[in-house]
Amino acid sequence: MRTKIVAGNWKMNKNAEQTEDLINELIDKLPTDTDVKVVIAPTFVNLASAVDHTEFTKIRVAAQNMHQAEGGAFTGEISADMLKSIGVNTVILGHSERRAYFHETDALIANKVETALKHEMTIIFCFGEELKDRSTNSHFNIVEGQLRDGIFNLPESAWSNIILAYEPVWAIGTGETASPEQAQEMHEFIRETVRKQYGSQVADDVSILYGGSVKPDNAKEIFSKPDVDGGLIGGAALNANDFVGIVNAM
Ligand code: PEP
Repeated sequence: MRTKIVAGNWKMNKNAEQTEDLINELIDKLPTDTDVKVVIAPTFVNLASAVDHTEFTKIRVAAQNMHQAEGGAFTGEISADMLKSIGVNTVILGHSERRAYFHETDALIANKVETALKHEMTIIFCFGEELKDRSTNSHFNIVEGQLRDGIFNLPESAWSNIILAYEPVWAIGTGETASPEQAQEMHEFIRETVRKQYGSQVADDVSILYGGSVKPDNAKEIFSKPDVDGGLIGGAALNANDFVGIVNAM
């Protein structure tokens, strides 16, 4: 039985006060009787206060990134242990903005995954093709390669800590969304690729989120697809009504 998840990636948005305000609004507006797991990922400096503010709620807090090393001379970086020490047990890794702007490779992301798992963290593993890959019909190969190089070295036991987030890069922050059919086609491919590698138990249990310009008015149709188990939300996660609308569409 897989979990339905809606996660909000706040990126480099919201100062301390705005973070508190948005969390308070979410606490007021999110349904309390939902079986959807709700995750928010504010920026590093606001994680500790986000953990405090959500303590007695169903909202869970994730980091947007972390460093692969345990610690040391890595100016400006944050370790898994630091995150765990403030109560953050989930981390987004491999986001396309990390890959594009910070040159994170599949090998580096695999390294981060390994470190996060050592600390028993849950990982929202992001991957997805660029527009040029889709236009040359190589999107399935690209996605399979990202899975293979990023997480297919993991033992089967690690998969209870893995959430997959398929995010076609051409649909992130662009207002372009994969059609529900395109999302389902790729999610089914991803699940079957996991099945070939790890068997049915892992494939049937792993949650696969869709990310890319999900909004309250397109969420229901995307989430209705059988292999879409939720969403990773960027822009629309910054507005409480939009984010709650997306959770309610699940
Ligand atoms: C994202 O960055 O993960 C994302 C899905 O962004 P947006 O919803 O804004 O496209």
